[in-house]
Amino acid sequence: MRRGDTHLVKSKNITLGGTSSITVQTMLKSHFYKYNTCYISELMYRGCDILRFSINGDYSKKDLQEFIKSSPLPLVIDIKSDISQAKVALGGGIDAVRINPALLSKQDITEVFRIAKANNAIVRIGTNEGSTHGKSAITLVIDTINLAESLGFKNIVTSIKASNSDETLSLNRELASLTAYPIHLGLTEAGGVVTSAVRSTVVLSKLLEEGIGSTIRYSMAGSETNEVEAATELLSSLNLRRPHLHLVVCPSCARCTFITEKFLEDVESELYKITYYNKCYISVAIMGCPLNGIGEAKNADFGISGNNITAVIFKKGEIVEKCDAKNAKEAFLSVIKSSLSS
Ligand code: SF4
Repeated sequence: MRRGDTHLVKSKNITLGGTSSITVQTMLKSHFYKYNTCYISELMYRGCDILRFSINGDYSKKDLQEFIKSSPLPLVIDIKSDISQAKVALGGGIDAVRINPALLSKQDITEVFRIAKANNAIVRIGTNEGSTHGKSAITLVIDTINLAESLGFKNIVTSIKASNSDETLSLNRELASLTAYPIHLGLTEAGGVVTSAVRSTVVLSKLLEEGIGSTIRYSMAGSETNEVEAATELLSSLNLRRPHLHLVVCPSCARCTFITEKFLEDVESELYKITYYNKCYISVAIMGCPLNGIGEAKNADFGISGNNITAVIFKKGEIVEKCDAKNAKEAFLSVIKSSLSS
């Protein structure tokens, strides 16, 4: 079923499917207790809507429930075969659980649906082509949906992932033709940052343009931040999301007098935070030379360029301030902040 016609699925902090916006997800690369709220907030400022995590080995129930309580983003716990993790997390108020039905008994799946229902949480029924133990991924998902419905549980999201592009496309098209529940899209084991960005973009953009997919993740052997940025950029490039911050950064060439990559690194985090809290939509240009850069970025709301000695700050192509290159970061952020608050 096309995205807009899928069931609307809701928990306390997550709404998926129907005419709701497509959400961006990422997954923590390590144990939940290694992450603080600052880092999770940073993911949120950059466009992450939902954060998934898994647990390996021993954990403190108290720590898990505190992590859930303090997270600025709604969370999904990804369980393998230990449903007690789902019980503790649901008891702590988590929004969603991801199960792989290939790894759980019917009795355990039934128990997860029962507790999720009691806690108004969402369950993602997600299989990976590589872990179906010889069963058909589609059949596994559909049989599990039928089990959930027989228990009166309909707060369901589905997913079937594969690392092969063609397989991911055909499996998700088939899944969308068979179910009206929202689909979570992703190409699994897609490689490093560049490889995954290219492969995932090709596959996900095709499916999204066909109206398939209510929530997406870029799986990368890179940081969570990379995954969020790639997913947010895809949605905005397809006009499926309006990002708070649209960055215009020149690639540099022999005429470069202002190191764009370094300046971007210095201000990026703060720019995402400012635009998130101001609930505004701005374009920001960081250009390698003032001569060509100001003209090339004349449509940007704010821009900066310069050389080793002086930085020039411009708004819509007009220079509004010149400052010492050493103070470029502070001066630039100050111009943006004061313009947004006036
Ligand atoms: S803005 Fe200047 S440095 Fe950047 S690519 Fe254009 S000419 Fe080169």
